[in-house]
Amino acid sequence: MKVSVDKDMCACTGTCALIAPEVFAIENHSELVVLDPEPADALRDLVVDAAEQCPTGAIEITE
Ligand code: SF4
Repeated sequence: MKVSVDKDMCACTGTCALIAPEVFAIENHSELVVLDPEPADALRDLVVDAAEQCPTGAIEITE
């Protein structure tokens, strides 16, 4: 799977970083960073959950 974040849509809530800290992080208190843009399948459920919980729909998952 591949993960990306539309930074124009991201509101930096940090929700995704709480749910899947292996993949997402907030740096400098205001910048969302995708740490692992191609996470292992073992992280799939967490990444999907993070995308569903993102309040702005900024997280895109592709296969
Ligand atoms: S949950 Fe969505 S809005 Fe919040 S930091 Fe992650 S990508 Fe940005």
